[in-house]
Amino acid sequence: MPSTPSTPRPSQSVGTETPTKQSLSSFAPWDRDQLVRRLSTFKDVLWSQLPEELCELEWARRGWVEREDGKKGVKCGLCVADMEIIWDWNQLREAVIEQRESQESIKETAQNGDGILENGTSNGTTDSSHPELPLSDADDVYSKEAIDDLEATTFLQAHYVPLISSGHAMKCPWRTRRTDLTVLRLPPASLSLPSLMSRLSTLSPILAFLPDASQITIPKPLPESLPTTLQDFDPRLVQVGISGWSGSLLGDKGILKCTTCHRRVGLWLFKSTSESNDDILKLDVESLDLIAEHKSYCPWINGQVQSGMAGWEYVYEAVEPRGTLKRNRDGNDDEKESRFKRLRDMLKGIKR
Ligand SMILES: [Zn+2]
Ligand SMILES: [Zn+2]
Repeated sequence: MPSTPSTPRPSQSVGTETPTKQSLSSFAPWDRDQLVRRLSTFKDVLWSQLPEELCELEWARRGWVEREDGKKGVKCGLCVADMEIIWDWNQLREAVIEQRESQESIKETAQNGDGILENGTSNGTTDSSHPELPLSDADDVYSKEAIDDLEATTFLQAHYVPLISSGHAMKCPWRTRRTDLTVLRLPPASLSLPSLMSRLSTLSPILAFLPDASQITIPKPLPESLPTTLQDFDPRLVQVGISGWSGSLLGDKGILKCTTCHRRVGLWLFKSTSESNDDILKLDVESLDLIAEHKSYCPWINGQVQSGMAGWEYVYEAVEPRGTLKRNRDGNDDEKESRFKRLRDMLKGIKR
């Protein structure tokens, strides 16, 4: 355990205490609650523009939260490192080249590298022929302008992926360890019928904002008969609830939100208002995809993160009449077997 003087770490960590900025990054890579809260800090649209390897999940797994000083980027509450993230390759390489030049000029005077800037790549040794340059390999990506988006993405990854770990201070424990993906797994309680009921209670007030059933893309049609507790609900609400969404009112509008991946979906985007006279607009209205609206890593839809099936599949099983479920299971040992196999393979893959 590190002792970082600037971060007063509570000796008995997390759980009941109120979420402080510090505790979000206190070193508990096994703690789901902290991971989810770190994820919730990533609000800038920037994160959706970055390739998957640089999405907020990858930063949050390494203890980073979104910085709040107006610059786009991340900070670590534990080692107090912060980093600006420039997602435009050409701007980034200009910034790097500029930084190199200023490093060049102060090279003779001072020689202690660990600034708070986008440093991290200073791998200790100061080779006299090569000053501390980021990625000082022979193949220097910073000399190149990207010819297209694909290349720009590749270069961005080359720059930032190593910084997810090396951007932390030398002594920061997040530098060498990250939260396992399966920590994000939904607890069994979230996949139960009572939990579905509580999501439905938040969804009922936004029923009027939901698009028609034909405008909603669902993962699987509802079973023919539902548990009695669900029968009074509009089937669209049940579908939305099974898919992990809660509802909320935003002024006089309705939104769906996921408390795991923090996606918020404005329902007005999927509904053409009946009083508006625009037939043309109506054609453009997309359908509301209950799966695709979650972030790709969300355990509600990602069976690998959830270890086995996606979250919604577990809830679906919970609302399926017992008879069907049993019949399916009895007649389908192969499927069960392959599911276990998938799980085993997956665990092997994740716990490298
Ligand atoms: Zn750190
Ligand atoms: Zn989600």
